[in-house]
Amino acid sequence: MSSVVRNWQATLVKAYPDLFHPTGNPPAAVGRPEVGDGWRDLLERTCARIRTAIQADGGSFHVAQIKQKYGTLRFYWDGALSSAANGWVEEAIALAEARSACTCDVCGDVGRLRGKRWLTTRCLAHAEGQPVVEITRGFENVRIEERYVGEQRITRCRRYDRETDSFIDVDPRSLGIEEE
Ligand SMILES: [Zn+2]
Repeated sequence: MSSVVRNWQATLVKAYPDLFHPTGNPPAAVGRPEVGDGWRDLLERTCARIRTAIQADGGSFHVAQIKQKYGTLRFYWDGALSSAANGWVEEAIALAEARSACTCDVCGDVGRLRGKRWLTTRCLAHAEGQPVVEITRGFENVRIEERYVGEQRITRCRRYDRETDSFIDVDPRSLGIEEE
């Protein structure tokens, strides 16, 4: 890794001590991001959103790990927040993970999932000849979330819109998903 790569990650940790809680000299944090340069921007947005969510909350928040797995971002944290702040943090992380799935981890341009055994999200220029992972038509950038309200299971489908960096609700029936 080049010193430039190390630099933005250290800068992010330093800019958000309330999220990363670095210790020692020079300061180090267990949650220091282990991802490519292309995801720097989305992580900066995520940290800003999380700070906003936790600032007014009396709870605790620690970044546990930020890494890439199966070609997309994984953002793990520890702590205890009010249910409202917890919801905002989880929403910020859902947005970050969705954005990572369509953002090249090398350069930050529009990308898509590629590879065979080793998956990455890459633009055409950084694809290095990897085959594209086929996504069923209509399911591009769609997240399917399930939650329980009492005994009832609720399926929610949302499409990530890269232009506006937000989710748009999709009718599950339009994707052929059956509700039980
Ligand atoms: Zn790229």
